[in-house]
Amino acid sequence: MNTSRSLKILFLSAEVVPFAKTGGLADVAGSLPKAIRALGHDIRIAMPRYGRVSPDRFDLRPKLDPFPVPLDDMEEPASILEGHIGEDVPVYFVENARLFDREGIYMYPDDAERFIFYCRAALEMCRQMGWRPDVIHCNDWHTAIIPNWMQTVYRDDPFFKDTATLYTIHNLAYQGIFGYRVLEIAGLEEYGFIAHPDLAPDLNDVVDLMARGILFADIINTVSERYAREILTPEFGERLDPILRDRRDRLFGVLNGIDYEVFNPATDPHIASRFDSDHLEARRPNKAALQREAGLPEREDIPLIGAISRLSDQKGFDLIAEIIDAWMQHVPSQFILLGTGEQRYHELFEGIQERYPDRVAVFLTFNAPLAQRIYAGTDMFLMPSRFEPCGLGQMIAMHYGSVPIVRATGGLADTVRDYDPRTGEGNGFSFKSYDALALYAALVRAVETFKYRDVWRRLMLRGMRADFSWQRSARKYVDLYYRAIATRRGAHRPEEYPTWRRDGTAERMGGHQVVEDEGESNRGV
Ligand code: ADP
Repeated sequence: MNTSRSLKILFLSAEVVPFAKTGGLADVAGSLPKAIRALGHDIRIAMPRYGRVSPDRFDLRPKLDPFPVPLDDMEEPASILEGHIGEDVPVYFVENARLFDREGIYMYPDDAERFIFYCRAALEMCRQMGWRPDVIHCNDWHTAIIPNWMQTVYRDDPFFKDTATLYTIHNLAYQGIFGYRVLEIAGLEEYGFIAHPDLAPDLNDVVDLMARGILFADIINTVSERYAREILTPEFGERLDPILRDRRDRLFGVLNGIDYEVFNPATDPHIASRFDSDHLEARRPNKAALQREAGLPEREDIPLIGAISRLSDQKGFDLIAEIIDAWMQHVPSQFILLGTGEQRYHELFEGIQERYPDRVAVFLTFNAPLAQRIYAGTDMFLMPSRFEPCGLGQMIAMHYGSVPIVRATGGLADTVRDYDPRTGEGNGFSFKSYDALALYAALVRAVETFKYRDVWRRLMLRGMRADFSWQRSARKYVDLYYRAIATRRGAHRPEEYPTWRRDGTAERMGGHQVVEDEGESNRGV
């Protein structure tokens, strides 16, 4: 296959920086396509136009007049607005007032209908524009119906028959699980439930969109090599590990990068004092400014520790809750938290702030400029995740000179090496077992090391000078695009797709897989 030709790639994500963001998916969608464009490929993004995406603010222009999109047994109109990210990556916004003109992004009772409509509209948009993608890059459950369609209703569609799919898992914990009704909405009732022999029986009686993405995509990847291996195990597999093991020959891990245009301490408009690794002294005013903003005593000598996160189970807050009293009583430091999420964590951290008003500052909101001031002003960045597919926070923190304290899991294990005082090696502090005492020990080691200013300075510089750019990973994604195309078109070895269960009868679907033996190094995980 000619791997030098320019590809056409449709990139689908429910959230994209700067238009809509709840977490790392938006960061990836707002930066990876720019890096792929820089490699010479025609990549275009499509996302819903939520109420919060103002056409005026983002200078969105009409692209397509309303056209009919199949949904359920009817049709529903979609129109398309066009904006862009970077210099030249088009972003197409799917407009439908009934489904998307709302304040939030997710958590509506009709989410399945909303995201299935968005996916179908994005496909029909390509047809309307006469722009035939070589690959559709789907991200997380919101777009996972597309690989399913490509192997069924679009399998012989003259426009899409050669279009391959890459399915990227950003977080296996959010699967998009719905009832049978979703199949009607998606026009897949002819097929019915999937009865995969390796899935837990209750998963065979629901529509798990994440599982369908995994079962039908030409190639699958996740956002770090470590997480790609971890999800093959019951501990991290979120009950989908049997089908991931089944398809491990097409599963890859590619570490995320960060967007150096957005996260750059030398140009950041939101911080008090700009700096880089050659002007580290210019970083100092950021700590004092942050302490003032947070209402904490201005102390240069004690470490200021930050955390910026969705407040969910995944992120290790139960460990912080367990050690907070010992931490506050025995470890001289200040703690600043920016996060929003589950109510119980809001209450927990409000309580902690009340108990330790001089030591802890809590911001229970989503605030991107404040996040940048925290990355720039803290000495350490805490991320004790239970699991972490990649994690961007630790990379942004390192790039801004805040030294990470993390649990060694997923992408955190791939990016943070524990500091070893004997050899001087490492770029942060990490602990292995998911255990409050292990976190406490790592915290104490970090705070002790902070006293040795020259050692600390080296740790900061190591993080700041590391390469977290997208360049290398973007090349790996292009390799996966070619691999997905080969899988779709190669059509050599028939492979069995899952058994469909329809009216008590089961039938086998034929599929295809490339047979070329490409050697060990080219295999999946
Ligand atoms: P996840 O995708 O699981 O939420 P990541 O570490 O991959 O975690 O990405 C989180 C991204 O969201 C980072 O850019 C982080 O700075 C940002 N973020 C998380 N919570 C907030 C918040 N409350 N305010 C501002 N930015 C936030």
